[in-house]
Amino acid sequence: GQTVVALTRRGKYLLASLSSGETLLMHLGMSGSFRVVREGRTLRGPRARDSHDHVVFHMSSGRSVVFNDPRRFGVMDLIRPGQLQHHPVLSALGPEPLSDDFDAAGLARACAGKRTSLKAALLDQRAVAGLGNIYASEALHVARLSPRRRASILATPGGAPREAAHRLTEAIKHVLLKAIARQARGRYGDERFLVYDREDELCSRKGCAGTIRRGAQGGRSTFSCPVCQR
Ligand SMILES: [Zn+2]
Repeated sequence: GQTVVALTRRGKYLLASLSSGETLLMHLGMSGSFRVVREGRTLRGPRARDSHDHVVFHMSSGRSVVFNDPRRFGVMDLIRPGQLQHHPVLSALGPEPLSDDFDAAGLARACAGKRTSLKAALLDQRAVAGLGNIYASEALHVARLSPRRRASILATPGGAPREAAHRLTEAIKHVLLKAIARQARGRYGDERFLVYDREDELCSRKGCAGTIRRGAQGGRSTFSCPVCQR
């Protein structure tokens, strides 16, 4: 067995540092979750194993930590000591959105010359780490940018940040801080969004008479207001 020395996060990856020097990398995918099961409850009782329990960690306390993932997009990988920085998924990640490393200049540099859409650039994880479908849509609404605009519009031909890059950087930090504050109040799961899942509703922006539209980009739903997001 190994002792978990620290639990950290990078982008959407959970990282458990082990006493062996190895790191257990975990990603919840679309539907993954962990639950803690008391001693003896693993195989029977009200929270018995189900067919979507894919990994079970047996802890020294007698409890089990069970990874459940119905859609099986989750990932686990055991990384050898010293190899964490070189792991292909981690070395490609952009800066953490709430760190000082993430700023308009960096976002513009990452998007300069990119012919993909702004939405795709935000989900790509290389320009910024950890942003998912919901908060990418929300941030673009706050920044008044259409998800379908080209990512390259954030930068001047020389790669310097345009005003839109500053707006989008601030919007990303804003929507994430708001979501974390809501979660801290124990209200995760019942949140209502500005545009996400609000198809055909009136835009919530003051003075905007637009209606939220739903579209698809790269196989994912995109929600935006065609009036105030340009
Ligand atoms: Zn609007």
